[in-house]
Amino acid sequence: MITVDQAQALCLDLVTPMGVETVELSQAATRVLAQDVRARRDQPPFSASAMDGYAIAEADAVQGRQLDLIGEAAAGHGWDGTLQPGQTVRIFTGAPVPEGAQRVVIQENTTADGPRITLSEPISDNLNIRPQGADFTTDFTLQAPRRLTAPDVALLAAMNTPEVAVSRAPKVALISTGDELLMPGGDPSPDQIIASNVFALHAMLTGAGAIPNILPIAPDTPEALDEVLSQAEDWGADIVVTIGGASVGDHDLVAPALDRFGVTRSFHKIAMRPGKPLMAGAKGDVAFLGLPGNPVSAVVCGHLFLLPMVRRALGLTDVLPRAVTARLKAALSKGGPRAHYMRARFEEGADSRTVKAFDKQDSSMLTVLSDANCLLLRPIDDAPKAAGDAVTILPL
Ligand code: AMP
Ligand code: MG
Repeated sequence: MITVDQAQALCLDLVTPMGVETVELSQAATRVLAQDVRARRDQPPFSASAMDGYAIAEADAVQGRQLDLIGEAAAGHGWDGTLQPGQTVRIFTGAPVPEGAQRVVIQENTTADGPRITLSEPISDNLNIRPQGADFTTDFTLQAPRRLTAPDVALLAAMNTPEVAVSRAPKVALISTGDELLMPGGDPSPDQIIASNVFALHAMLTGAGAIPNILPIAPDTPEALDEVLSQAEDWGADIVVTIGGASVGDHDLVAPALDRFGVTRSFHKIAMRPGKPLMAGAKGDVAFLGLPGNPVSAVVCGHLFLLPMVRRALGLTDVLPRAVTARLKAALSKGGPRAHYMRARFEEGADSRTVKAFDKQDSSMLTVLSDANCLLLRPIDDAPKAAGDAVTILPL
């Protein structure tokens, strides 16, 4: 059986980066920037006042100096002229600093007597001017790839960019398989359960920037699987995810169905807990991922394999789940022959991060997964661990 690292690399190999589309800035946050954007202007585009006050020449920066008020500069309406020593211009925040002025004295530090302004307080070290280009200049570039944040789109706006090129979102078909499954809100017979993990995967995919689509549940017959795989293809899925039916039981029909569908298998089964029956493959540009049906297994494999595939499809480079170190709150016995991704909770202390694995590690238990905020990684054949030992966790 291959390792998780090997399987992740093989999964990423199956993904073709998406094309590019242009979106308006108001639609750009959370999308992945696909092309570098160069600033079209300096920001600020002129030396601007940072305060309300009086623009003065540096030679006049003397406490007690009296100046002649000769004009006004407001945001959007600069004062056209050149200030001479002995003169001052009333200026407001965001207004261009007039030619001849090198400093703004805040109005609280002045007294006005008609057109005579006195610098009544000690002169401060602060010039109260934002120099032209202090934020960015025209050689500034916001570099792709990058998942755009709210501040990023404000920055792009200030750069005078009305729309940006972003990676097209990959379409991900989600196919639940199993005679026992029913959608939430249905009327289950005594033998049935509700299809649940597909909703976690849907939410995870949406958060990662994909377009998920929950297709009809495929009962455990070859015909039903063939039919829903065709639906995924007709919809134009970039990634097709099946859930369940991945092991080698009599009712585990996914591997043969993918073979019939023309999927070239990349691997089937990995040295991992939960998630051993994972499989992956491709048909042309379309990637296929066969997740185990147990809810926790499906979600853990979603984090470890599916989301990295989506990130790669979006053109991102740092695609694997973030791993950090934490100190164990309680001892753990020796690890097994498969890497174990235990459901756990970590806490950020003042100077340390601690983690505790849940006692219940059954891969069908959603309440435990819902309480977890991380996966605690036990590598293959991990030695026993004592409280206080460092372990690797993957925040969820
Ligand atoms: P399978 O991989 O099909 O053998 O399924 C393993 C376990 O997961 C069985 O108990 C299934 O009933 C359950 N299961 C399969 N698919 C889902 C699903 N979409 N939602 C919740 N449980 C599921
Ligand atoms: Mg099944």
